[in-house]
Amino acid sequence: MRNKLADLLSGKGIVDNSVLEAIRAVPRHLFLDSSFEDHAYQDKAFPIGADQTISQPYTVAFQTELLQVRPDHKVLEIGTGSGYQTAVLLKLKAKVYTIERQLELFKKTSIFFKKMGYSPKKVIFGDGYKGLPEEAPFDSIIVTAGAPFVPNPLLAQLKVGGRLVIPVGTDEQIMTLFVRKSAKEFEKKELGSFRFVPLLENKN
Ligand code: SAH
Repeated sequence: MRNKLADLLSGKGIVDNSVLEAIRAVPRHLFLDSSFEDHAYQDKAFPIGADQTISQPYTVAFQTELLQVRPDHKVLEIGTGSGYQTAVLLKLKAKVYTIERQLELFKKTSIFFKKMGYSPKKVIFGDGYKGLPEEAPFDSIIVTAGAPFVPNPLLAQLKVGGRLVIPVGTDEQIMTLFVRKSAKEFEKKELGSFRFVPLLENKN
């Protein structure tokens, strides 16, 4: 079923073989509640509790491809959620730092990572709008929730040459890629519309 899913994503335009290999390798059904398990290899988003969703596989593959992950790259993920995207990044041999703002999901997914033997460098309960200054700079940053605007700390925490992939917008989001060209210059590309749950600001 995973091979079929990877073939489907390849048909939808995903070309990076390392990304398709990661999709072939990660058992998505284990990241879903058992009631959705049978549908795990459809190209669809599903609820994961706490009003959140596991992203559609195409979206995961599309964003991951844009990051251009290489082994040992330091990657920051905003929105741990089910941990599926984290697992795809780990499969690409990235050093992954991942932030989740919902306590329930943070706890559940932290336990799941341990159980499965997935070892992100850090799983953090916190606010992704701030990034992770103490571990910056990053080779790439991926935001897996819809951001109403581009948080400046995320741009500031990229290496020169680093890439930020972020869906920007409220009702609908435009997938946006920023590449840091120098200390002050960023190249920006807009790459089609998607629908994500919102990136929320912490009230506390
Ligand atoms: N990468 C996840 C996608 C989960 S949906 C996966 O593969 O399953 C997006 C996640 O972003 C949700 O879990 C949501 O709680 C989280 N989120 C929303 N706002 C956030 C913020 N400000 N900081 C960190 N995480 C946030």
